[in-house]
Amino acid sequence: METRILGTEREALRAAKALIEAGEVVAFHTETVYGLGADARSDGAVRKIFELKGRPADNPLIVHVHREYDIAALIDGEPPYAEALRRAFLPGPLTMVYPSSGKVSKFVSCGLNTLAIRVPSSPTAQAFLREVDLPIAAPSANRSKHVSPVTAQHVYDDFHGMIPLILDGGACTGGIESTVLDCTGEIPQILREGLVTREMIAAVAGNCGVYRMRAGERPKSPGIAYKHYSPRCATAYCRSAEEAAAVYDREKERGGAPCILCESAAAEALGGRECLDLGETGEQMARRLYALLRRAENTATLLIAVEPKGQGGVMAGVMNRMRRAFGVEE
Ligand code: AMP
Ligand code: MG
Repeated sequence: METRILGTEREALRAAKALIEAGEVVAFHTETVYGLGADARSDGAVRKIFELKGRPADNPLIVHVHREYDIAALIDGEPPYAEALRRAFLPGPLTMVYPSSGKVSKFVSCGLNTLAIRVPSSPTAQAFLREVDLPIAAPSANRSKHVSPVTAQHVYDDFHGMIPLILDGGACTGGIESTVLDCTGEIPQILREGLVTREMIAAVAGNCGVYRMRAGERPKSPGIAYKHYSPRCATAYCRSAEEAAAVYDREKERGGAPCILCESAAAEALGGRECLDLGETGEQMARRLYALLRRAENTATLLIAVEPKGQGGVMAGVMNRMRRAFGVEE
């Protein structure tokens, strides 16, 4: 199969619509990461997503809709705070989990009685979703466990020859997956941290919890239980630049090609060693993280992370992805 990379010209949107209506899978740009989309109402199309990704059958998908789409039929009511949050943050990188009305394929939510819905702000995603005018189930467009894609080339690297079309909207400006927010309880609860932060949600809803999985419990958001976002090279995780420098020098002596992933301030202290600069703010680190992980896996024998110092806000999401990419317990 030829994998075409197109923009949002008429011909591209028409091709995307025809493919989705035929039960095929189409990758598309969003402001967070690229998505791998299919008709959420079709069992066959949704199962194709799982097969292509090699995704575990208990890891549910997010349904994407355009900004005018009426989600009332997809869900079984919403609490007042959810309406306020929708107004404040959508379209944008916030996924809201509602009681499901059961109108999409049962494979979307993997047996949960809830449905996760997102309205992306990316003009490419909006053009695609408006064109098909259907709920589109879409996880990140990477092979399962691999680093999420933030360019069309990343999607191509994982799926060329396996999917017919990638809708290219350039590099993703957000860079990490959406915040997933449980909106089925008394107060909203974050299941996965992202660019819409706990502080931002609490400012609108008055309150916001963060879900922490307890040992032995079935996770509320199954995806968070998996090792994830892993670069395909050896990795090490260090708490300080000094520790990273020592690990780096040892790898160099062994004849390896190490590389250090760290925030700008730490890079300055690492004098001459090969560094990948995450930047300074939480937003910068979110935007750069996955592209740097994908770059490192093609060039380094050992990728060494230095834990960033910043905390709170977007850093909660950045730290969550870094820990999981490097296999570090919370
Ligand atoms: P991905 O799009 O690859 O980032 O994966 C979507 C993530 O959203 C999953 O890993 C889940 O953790 C979360 N998710 C999707 N649907 C639900 C749901 N109904 N309830 C809770 N979490 C969900
Ligand atoms: Mg994913």
